[in-house]
Amino acid sequence: MSAQVVIIGAGAAGIAAARRLLAERVNVHVMEAEAIPGGRCITDTTSLGHPFDRGGSWIHSAAINPMAELAREQRAETIEDDPGALRAVVREGKRLNDTEFEAYVCAWRSLADARARTTTASGDPAMDSFVPGEPWGPYIRHVVAMLSGVDPAACSAEDFSRFEHAPGEWLLPQGQGSLLAAAADGLPIAFENPVHRIDFGSDPIRVNTRRGELEAAAVIVTVSTAVLAAGTLTFDPELPACLLEAIDGLPLGLLNKVGIAVRKDSPLAAPGPVLMHHASADEAVMIRPGFAHQPVVCGFVGGGFADALEREGAGAATEACLESLRALYGGTIKRDLGPSLETTWRSHPWSLGAYSAALPGHSGARAVLAAGVDRRLLFAGEATDPTLFSSVGGAWRSGIRAAEQYLEAIGQGSLPA
Ligand SMILES: Cc1cc2nc3c(=O)[nH]c(=O)nc-3n(C[C@H](O)[C@H](O)[C@H](O)COP(=O)(O)OP(=O)(O)OC[C@H]3O[C@@H](n4cnc5c(N)ncnc54)[C@H](O)[C@@H]3O)c2cc1C
Repeated sequence: MSAQVVIIGAGAAGIAAARRLLAERVNVHVMEAEAIPGGRCITDTTSLGHPFDRGGSWIHSAAINPMAELAREQRAETIEDDPGALRAVVREGKRLNDTEFEAYVCAWRSLADARARTTTASGDPAMDSFVPGEPWGPYIRHVVAMLSGVDPAACSAEDFSRFEHAPGEWLLPQGQGSLLAAAADGLPIAFENPVHRIDFGSDPIRVNTRRGELEAAAVIVTVSTAVLAAGTLTFDPELPACLLEAIDGLPLGLLNKVGIAVRKDSPLAAPGPVLMHHASADEAVMIRPGFAHQPVVCGFVGGGFADALEREGAGAATEACLESLRALYGGTIKRDLGPSLETTWRSHPWSLGAYSAALPGHSGARAVLAAGVDRRLLFAGEATDPTLFSSVGGAWRSGIRAAEQYLEAIGQGSLPA
């Protein structure tokens, strides 16, 4: 079998690339390891009895995010929702008083200064340098971990501060994953067909999959950088050293979610701002009641704490979340809770984490990966977007960019049309 372009992965990047190329009548095949599209952005509609995004849920920076346009196209309901609207913090069994709360919020907000300060700081330092000191620093570190997926010492401040903030933070009651699933409808996707090897030394390129081999003039690879680093998808010849270095410089951090269905008359069913619980300085659970206007409470854990819970085994993240709910609402809240789920993105074989964070000193890695090899082995995916990385919109935009790299190459005659 042959195609002009083979796309590997039917997440946001792969779906966007396929749609862009099909619009130009390019013959495309998408190879997807899983049985459904969406990758790290899927809506679970069954486990809780209400739609729940297991992965990406917010349309961040909606004014510049292509997912906002897709939501409008699909007439999907959207809700303005600030993920940083903090209402209360409970630390080691005690709710912060007004003065402490203000100091905590101030320390949180100071992370935004990293942008201004990295331009003057020398080199590409870790976010560690911008986390405030005692008494709030040990707690605020967890905010970096939830945003970037990694602890501040492993996070390039330059990269962290490049994320583009624009007006609009939206949630979708039916889930962002539902948007993607609808966008994938009718695309030529071969599901449950993982790609094992890409032989790009030959012309055409040979793509070896579970169900046989395909030939293509160009390949767009959209799998996560952790999947690339794990080596389950191999390249022949080996990728150039600069690309291998870029992949290693963009490891995936971790964010896991716990979703719990709640009784409709529970205080947890009403949409509310962020509640933060620190059982100790090493732990942080962010709680969102009435998440995405559903009778569901969502708990978030990030960075090293999330990794430790996932390693501890099934139920550990849920228990941490329940402890936070007891600390915030009292022991009787248990009566309001229904079915629950927890995500385990680190163990998920086709993701191996949540989203990419550049290591200190590696803020240039996204551009290196996005350049690809000879305009015929192209890379897309959230890790390759310069300013909306770690997001669904960034992944989508990168898919369009990779498709256009291919279109430009055929336009200039460097690849056969
Ligand atoms: C818990 C969590 C919360 C998040 N919150 C947000 C948020 O609120 N807002 C936001 O914008 N973003 C959020 N994100 C990030 C966002 O979900 C991702 O950045 C985005 O979905 C990545 O899309 P992608 O196309 O780059 O990669 P993926 O979605 O990973 O797509 C790659 C696809 O490739 C497939 N694949 C892997 N290996 C192979 C192979 N060998 N052969 C064939 N197929 C293969 C995978 O199955 C997958 O479908 C969150 C992520 C997580 C995990």
